Amino acid sequence: MAGAAVKAKPASTIAEERELTDGFHLVIDALKLNGINTIYGVPGIPITDLGRMAQAAGMRVISFRHEQHAGNAAAIAGFLTKKPGICLTVSAPGFLNGLTALANATTNCFPMILISGSSEREIVDLQQGDYEELDQLAIAKPLCKAAFRVLHAADIGIGVARAIRAAVSGRPGGVYLDLPAKLFSQVMDAEAGAKSLVKVIDPAPAQLPAPSAVKRALDVLKGAKRPLIILGKGAAYAQADDQIRTLVEKSGVPFLPMSMAKGLLPDTHPQCAGAARSTVLKEADVVMLIGARLNWLLSHGKGKTWGEPGSKKFIQIDIEPKEMDSNVEVVAPLVGDIGSCVSALLDGIDGKWPTPAADWVGAVKARKEENIAKMAPRLMKNSVPMDFHGALGALRTVIKERPDAILVNEGANTLDLARGVIDMYQPRKRLDVGTWGVMGIGMGFAVAAAIETGKPVLAVEGDSAFGFSGMEVETICRYNLPVCVVVFNNDGIYRGTDVNSAGGSDPATTVFVKDARYDMMMEAFGGVGVHVTTPEELSRAVNKAMDSGKPTLINAVIDPAAGTESGRIGNLNPQSVVRKK
Ligand code: ADP
Ligand code: MG
Repeated sequence: MAGAAVKAKPASTIAEERELTDGFHLVIDALKLNGINTIYGVPGIPITDLGRMAQAAGMRVISFRHEQHAGNAAAIAGFLTKKPGICLTVSAPGFLNGLTALANATTNCFPMILISGSSEREIVDLQQGDYEELDQLAIAKPLCKAAFRVLHAADIGIGVARAIRAAVSGRPGGVYLDLPAKLFSQVMDAEAGAKSLVKVIDPAPAQLPAPSAVKRALDVLKGAKRPLIILGKGAAYAQADDQIRTLVEKSGVPFLPMSMAKGLLPDTHPQCAGAARSTVLKEADVVMLIGARLNWLLSHGKGKTWGEPGSKKFIQIDIEPKEMDSNVEVVAPLVGDIGSCVSALLDGIDGKWPTPAADWVGAVKARKEENIAKMAPRLMKNSVPMDFHGALGALRTVIKERPDAILVNEGANTLDLARGVIDMYQPRKRLDVGTWGVMGIGMGFAVAAAIETGKPVLAVEGDSAFGFSGMEVETICRYNLPVCVVVFNNDGIYRGTDVNSAGGSDPATTVFVKDARYDMMMEAFGGVGVHVTTPEELSRAVNKAMDSGKPTLINAVIDPAAGTESGRIGNLNPQSVVRKK
């Protein structure tokens, strides 16, 4: 066409006339627009500039040493805040490192978004051997709630909105967002870019239970002689603390907190049945589950733990309808969000609670007091070397005196025993290995807990568990976080006493270097390292650390012979009965 003779303007003039934006800015703007102000990640190609620019735009960008820990941090940030935690990784290997955390978040119903840079689609799809070539989207899909890829800068707003909604609505979980390298430098008109962003309205809408389901649940509860309420981490996540407390206290029903629901009501509450766990599971006739699944952690709702077959009726409150009848029949499914469901129960009963039978409440109380009394002297033991109970007795007092501190806990014996010994007093203060019983969450959880809450963090770690994320003590020092790590050092996995039965010079498979000084790792990065051998020293060191708020690692020497194989879950550990000589 003749009109083509109109001369094109030089690029510089266009830029002056139109303000431009690009993929980098749009990702940052989309997150900020949705109130997401923190990113956990590891920089590298192609997202190095994204991290830099996010920081420049006022976001908190926490760089880790390994993506798995950044991912765990994002996941627990999601649990603590009900907003999706963001983990940002490089392509292929970085993405795969983050994937364990994404899968773990999904398993635990923690909302997080793993954002990974990826290589060029054209090359990846033709398998032509790009730098860090991997079909990340396909790999992520089965391990998360939803997975999306954005190819055009104009779609970033929608992509981020979909990811947020998928992470926090319904049953929360992990979401993968794939951002190919080319996307970041795609340029578009700034005004059109701003218009393309989406502020997600009501990302986790209330889900009200049906009135008939509420009535059914109340009828079952009213018919109970020996009722029990089990609180799970879904109840902690829901942040319906007042309604839950009212339900428990008005109904007078004994309650059992799952590990991460401890503190929703204080473990010292007169109705807490934590110390009478086996009794209440065996004897209860009606069990109301609030945000807790009948998975392996509750022996699937059947078998010896649960007493006579058919002796239980289950009421279950959960946002996920598919969870009902997952292991045993649920006679009163109550599907909805916990806040709405518990409020509906409170309205439905209208203050007319039946009193649970005095003999049931009395029996639970008696068993609980007996067990607490039995454990008490073990917690006072000041022996050297320390056993787990002696050391945990000291930490139990620390948390009692500092109930707003956050306790992170992982290990085998260190986990199982701490869960029973250390009472929690406030909601969402205990963060641990969760549904998978996974090792390696320690430092990631500790970092995010400190960043998200500003509270002091006490991470109680088995020496083996600590090893999975130990390098992140540098991250703790770099950001000067108020984290006190206590390593229960018994020289190995489960115990430090195993020997190589072949008699060679290699150590046994479960033992570590004897007398290792984990405290020196913290000193290497400018933090405080302390070596302790008695409960008194431990107590002093932890209190000092928590008063000072300085990054501290306490190497607590535990008797190498003190642990048991696989802690409390030895039954899950197959052992050969055929040993070759
Ligand atoms: P625990 O390990 O403490 O027993 P689980 O992780 O097994 O807890 O169970 C948590 C349950 O809570 C999940 O089934 C999840 O669907 C549910 N859940 C999470 N958030 C909510 C919510 N806001 N309302 C209702 N149910 C929820
Ligand atoms: Mg150990």
